[in-house]
Amino acid sequence: MKALILKGPHEPFIFEDVPDPIPQNGEAVAKILACGSGLTIQHVKAGRTKVHFPIIIGHEITAEIIELRGDCGELKVGMPVTAYFYFTCGHCKWCKINRETLCNNFKGYIGRQINGGYAEYISLPAKNFIPIPTSINYKENPIETGIISDAIATPLKVIKKARIVITDKVGVIGAGGGLGIHMLRMLNLYNVKTIAIETKQIKEKSCRDSGASEFINPNSNSIKEVIEDFTNKSGLDVVIDFVSSKSSLETGTELLGSGGRLVTLGGSGDFFNIDSGNMLLKEIEIIGSRYCSKQEVIDSLNLVSRGLITPLVTEKVSPYQANDLHERIEKGNVIGRAGIIF
Ligand SMILES: [Zn+2]
Repeated sequence: MKALILKGPHEPFIFEDVPDPIPQNGEAVAKILACGSGLTIQHVKAGRTKVHFPIIIGHEITAEIIELRGDCGELKVGMPVTAYFYFTCGHCKWCKINRETLCNNFKGYIGRQINGGYAEYISLPAKNFIPIPTSINYKENPIETGIISDAIATPLKVIKKARIVITDKVGVIGAGGGLGIHMLRMLNLYNVKTIAIETKQIKEKSCRDSGASEFINPNSNSIKEVIEDFTNKSGLDVVIDFVSSKSSLETGTELLGSGGRLVTLGGSGDFFNIDSGNMLLKEIEIIGSRYCSKQEVIDSLNLVSRGLITPLVTEKVSPYQANDLHERIEKGNVIGRAGIIF
């Protein structure tokens, strides 16, 4: 098969012939139609996420099952599928309560420990494949369908984890990015008022089109006044931080009002300061949120299949354009999501 191979950090993709994947017992092989391209996988290319090279990255796939080996549960040849990004055990205390991102026997990620979706074929444990509902036209929209498994499902989890309700006013930091845009769309679906907090002015229109009622640059001198106007001086109920740098986390916590929740999803590893007195007085909560559960991927597929939320893909390229695309992702120049059609 042909695949986009990464031979080391900071190296370009090389689109070359490699052996077809051979499934182990309990694994299935699928033919990839498309794979989403976001910052999570760019972190591998840029060397910020450590993996053993060479590797094929990518996990937001739309694919069709072509081969099964041993017991593959409900999967059948010809079935359209997407994938669950994490390799989890399915039987520990966390897996049992749909919190499998905390799996005690966690074995890694598609596109890091096992080759991913930037290829013509992929072999995965059968339980990592999730059937695509028949009402989704995946053949016509393969990238839009593939990104549901992360770009839509991760925001769905945030809504629940931060206990967001219709009366909340929510700020989204990094609102114009792949997850940010879909966070705005998910909040819009729940009829929650949002303000997009985004450094790139060019992304304002997409943020507003995705449901944001306000747009502000976090470096603007007027950010505090804008938030005061937006919240009638009560402060934000929730800040969702997809950037998670020291400064974005500190800005985010300062903008919270009483009962405020800050959700951090970016894994910068930065330390940040928070006033513990203010934290006590306002009963502020700091919440980490990683990816989503398998059930949230299934629920997100159902939301899309019912037309309640639409994925936003602004760039669709061939494998030969993958290096250019990843340069734009690195610079933060992609609005919403991008992806590669195989
Ligand atoms: Zn587990």
